[in-house]
Amino acid sequence: MNKSLKYKIIIMTMIAVFAGMGSVFAYYLKLEKAYEIKAKNIAQETEIVEEKDQPEEQKKTEEVKETKTQEGMDSNSEEAEKEEVASLPEEKLSSSGTQNFVVCIDPGHGTTSRSIKEPVSPFGGEEKPGFVSGTKGVATGIAEKELNLAVSLKLRECLQNHGFKVVMTRDADYCDLSNIDRAELANRENSDLFVRVHANGADDQTARGIMMLVPSRSNLRDGIIVDKSRSAGETVLNHMIKSTGAPSNGVIERSDMTGFNWSKVPVILVEMGFMSNPDEDMLMSTSEYQDKLVDGIVNGILEYSKLD
Ligand SMILES: [Zn+2]
Repeated sequence: MNKSLKYKIIIMTMIAVFAGMGSVFAYYLKLEKAYEIKAKNIAQETEIVEEKDQPEEQKKTEEVKETKTQEGMDSNSEEAEKEEVASLPEEKLSSSGTQNFVVCIDPGHGTTSRSIKEPVSPFGGEEKPGFVSGTKGVATGIAEKELNLAVSLKLRECLQNHGFKVVMTRDADYCDLSNIDRAELANRENSDLFVRVHANGADDQTARGIMMLVPSRSNLRDGIIVDKSRSAGETVLNHMIKSTGAPSNGVIERSDMTGFNWSKVPVILVEMGFMSNPDEDMLMSTSEYQDKLVDGIVNGILEYSKLD
């Protein structure tokens, strides 16, 4: 082998080695870049997946939170959040409470062709007329049955708006139900409260204000109903005095009322005011004052329904 051929072989070998090393290096670089791109893609995909996993609302809340934090309203936003969380269950509680609460409204008196006498109590004793006509406004000439119905219809609407289940003994002038029939209707409907709506009359024209009648404690009566009626009577009267500004004539226990004695559910009788007092008679005939009376009764029933 001559010298020039030997050099040629050496040079060719070196070129081949360098070329080989170069291509290996190039391949390595390529690989690394490809890996980088792949890794980046995976990272982006993960982010997208994570974003997709978050519910829309949560994302929005986070955006809002971020904005507020940037504005330095950290503590405010936290408070607002707490308030939001706190208000939700309370709303649910109040509506679920009233839905299961049955109020039976009895607008006192009415027109009927029936005329009967009935026992004051299921345990015997004297008999009283099943139907009485009620009093009359000295200034307005309005019959008590009309005023009782007007207020009772407003009361039904307001209670229903608060979610209560309402039953009426009458929703028109004509009604054949006696005092016993009305109490038995309230019993049949498993009423949580039987509310009898009346207006007062007295010889003394200066007498005025709201009075609450409740059944008296007696050996013949269910003690739980007496206690619950008293509690409902006190609560409703307090709210009516607050809403109307009328004087209070207190809670009075009565043992002589047929509608009380036949009732197996808590029962109250609201005497809204004196139709024998010209000023109070005029006042009770206005829709504005009737709304105040209704507001007081509803607020009282709302409070009582939570105690019950
Ligand atoms: Zn009456």
